Amino acid sequence: MEKIKNIIDPFGTSSVEDYSHLFTELGIQPLKPLLPKIKNPSTFMRRGIDFGHQDFDKILEAVEKGQEVAVMSGIKPTAEFHLGSKMTAEKIIYFQKEFKAKVFYCVADLEAYCDNDIPLDESIQMAVDNVADILALGLDAKNAYIYRQSEEKRVMNLAYIFSKGVTMNALRGLYGKRDIGLYFSALTQAGDILMPQLPEFDGPKPVLVPIGADQSPHMFLVRDLARKFKSKFEFVLPSAIYHKFFRALTGEAKMSKRDPMSYLTLNDKPELAREKIMNTFTGGRGNVEEQRRLGGEPKKCVVYELGLFHFIEEDKKIKRIYEECKSGEKICGDCKKEMADIVVEFLKKHQKKKKKMIPKAKKILKV
Ligand code: SF4
Repeated sequence: MEKIKNIIDPFGTSSVEDYSHLFTELGIQPLKPLLPKIKNPSTFMRRGIDFGHQDFDKILEAVEKGQEVAVMSGIKPTAEFHLGSKMTAEKIIYFQKEFKAKVFYCVADLEAYCDNDIPLDESIQMAVDNVADILALGLDAKNAYIYRQSEEKRVMNLAYIFSKGVTMNALRGLYGKRDIGLYFSALTQAGDILMPQLPEFDGPKPVLVPIGADQSPHMFLVRDLARKFKSKFEFVLPSAIYHKFFRALTGEAKMSKRDPMSYLTLNDKPELAREKIMNTFTGGRGNVEEQRRLGGEPKKCVVYELGLFHFIEEDKKIKRIYEECKSGEKICGDCKKEMADIVVEFLKKHQKKKKKMIPKAKKILKV
């Protein structure tokens, strides 16, 4: 029997062949059994894109009891928002609206320096662009704390304190052999995730972290630290909800920064985005006659995934695309054009809103 290859590397390239194996490999619980308990599940939850969790039931219980919860995430300001950053942002916004969760959003400029060699004075420009994106997507800044890691002393203090709770061997076991900067980035992230429970932010509370499966080592570390420092800070173990990866437009497991045609960004000129979509990998057959006869293969198709993950909210509509593809009623050329129209429309509206958000983003980041 062929061995399933799941590669998890939070600082490098990850790929997952079979998500169900992560339940045993990483101690992640399946999300599906919790779905009936969620009043208005998000598109990502309904479609199985959010596939797993750690202690998400604790978040649901707290919300049910009317207790305060928080959601924590962030962005490494190394590049423009791509569809992965958009997805995380939309999840945060969902929890802010549906669960009344206070948002903590970190601009991880220290990690951008350690992992990508981008000096803080350079990453700040990208940070403004990134924050304008999340505001334009609908984040309510009034119930959010948005900060730069390098400016947040509480996070740095926690990272120092946590460094006394972990050995080099444990870090090597989790992340492999890395330089000290990346290990310290991991401790800094632990500081980001646990800071919402400090007394200045109303003390211990359930905090949810929406992440990709590649970030699971960070959750392992932060939950271990939360246990070790519980007596000092009374931390509640942070919860996580895990999503699947969106593939590159080329059909590869991950987009390549070296090939801009392999991914969409929210800054793409609409006509460039159209060109990218028209060149996207599909699940189509060799020619029209074959496709009419055999039907397409939506499960292999990135155009279908664009709708499923990102651009088609209505379940009926995505189901119709799937069925029309399978039956051979839909042909890839027309289908790509329809998707390109949807994406172009989205980008035009988003970019207009985002332009107006730049001054607000600058104000938040004190630029
Ligand atoms: Fe993909 Fe659409 Fe072609 Fe089906 S018809 S394979 S969904 S592009």
